[in-house]
Amino acid sequence: MNGDGAVDVAIVGAGIVGLATARAIMLERPDLEIAVVDKEPEVGRHQSGHNSGVIHAGLYYKPGSLKARLTLEGRAELIDYCVERGIAHEVCGKVVVATVPDELPALDVLAERSAANGVSATRLVGAALREYEPHVAGLAGLHVPSTGIIDYPGVCDALADDIRSKGHDLRLGSCVTGIVEERDGVVVATSTGPVRARVLVNCAGLQSDRIAKLTDGVGTDVRIMPFRGEYYELKADRRDLVRNLIYPVPDPAFPFLGVHYTRMIDGGVEAGPNAVPALAREGYRWRTVDLGDLAEIGGSRSTWVLARKYWKTQLGEFYRSASKRAFVSALQRLVPDVTPSDLVRSGAGVRAQAISPDGVLLDDFAFHETARQVHVLNAPSPAATACLPIGRLVASKAVERVG
Ligand SMILES: Cc1cc2nc3c(=O)[nH]c(=O)nc-3n(C[C@H](O)[C@H](O)[C@H](O)COP(=O)(O)OP(=O)(O)OC[C@H]3O[C@@H](n4cnc5c(N)ncnc54)[C@H](O)[C@@H]3O)c2cc1C
Repeated sequence: MNGDGAVDVAIVGAGIVGLATARAIMLERPDLEIAVVDKEPEVGRHQSGHNSGVIHAGLYYKPGSLKARLTLEGRAELIDYCVERGIAHEVCGKVVVATVPDELPALDVLAERSAANGVSATRLVGAALREYEPHVAGLAGLHVPSTGIIDYPGVCDALADDIRSKGHDLRLGSCVTGIVEERDGVVVATSTGPVRARVLVNCAGLQSDRIAKLTDGVGTDVRIMPFRGEYYELKADRRDLVRNLIYPVPDPAFPFLGVHYTRMIDGGVEAGPNAVPALAREGYRWRTVDLGDLAEIGGSRSTWVLARKYWKTQLGEFYRSASKRAFVSALQRLVPDVTPSDLVRSGAGVRAQAISPDGVLLDDFAFHETARQVHVLNAPSPAATACLPIGRLVASKAVERVG
């Protein structure tokens, strides 16, 4: 704390992006005082602790985009950080599989994109594909050796230790309820008392649009649409159906759709996630409904524009959510030997997907800035992989404002 009890930078959100931002500020400006404020009693309680645990290689993203650049950088830095801090991870590789002739051109496009992004990938067909993944059914696959698996909650804990070890304030169980921007700083109202800071950084994930709108005059129309992703898990005696990670060819309109198999760092094999609009921003089960969230989702024009555009896709996702058989049949396209009795329900995560007023899903990482505030408005997958360079980017914006 500074002499007057204020800090230089207050960060809302102790998910992986907020924590990585704090670490980056510590490295760039060790003289600055930081407070990281989170409403939950532990770090990484939302997206950062409910994800697929994959270190993405960076093949899918538009060349030149922040996602493409920061994922490539972030993957390498994250692996170094894991080695340095003894965090469980493994670079095991993955395969993207075309199961019908219609998907082969898209697999070729993906191979080109991968090359444009500097990610090495090899086409596998016939026996070579089956040698890599013996139970997979596919006409061709794209093998990406640099993909990995990781313990993201372990990364969050290590980042939190870095912050605490330098004496910064990691204020958990403290909900941000108001923000007032003044000429020389920001007053952040929280459930455990106010925090004064010269600069505020918003890394609130599923709540980031709401945090942005707490300040009068923060001109952003971007809204967060929560998509729940549900997982099944292979029973222990059927884990040998999957050696590493098996993905379908993505739909360019919805790159995060398409259930896949992921070997987890704890030895389990997860199948999923699907993507259904969630009835609460932090709704990990069907029956979790937040009437405020629901009214906001239903009352927003962008929801209806999105629903009109993609109603068929969404119906399919709802069906797969309600019917295990439908979910399994999507999985059987990749591994025909899997049966409903091989799978048990596992956890779920909720993605914070930013959407523009005209119903367009924001593709790239997105920020909004004022004189004293930096808001991270869109940090969907692969932001966990890219957390260290995203943190550095946000830190540089914050430090510039501290002066
Ligand atoms: C199902 C799923 C699978 C995914 N798989 C992968 C993957 O395999 N690899 C990958 O790289 N990425 C993956 N992602 C994406 C990745 O998990 C996220 O991009 C990343 O975790 C975002 O981190 P964050 O810090 O921005 O958000 P979060 O982790 O959600 O953190 C936001 C924090 O803000 C806090 N907060 C919110 N409101 C307030 C308030 N008012 N006051 C105080 N605190 C507040 C919350 O409590 C929370 O701790 C996946 C995401 C999901 C949901």
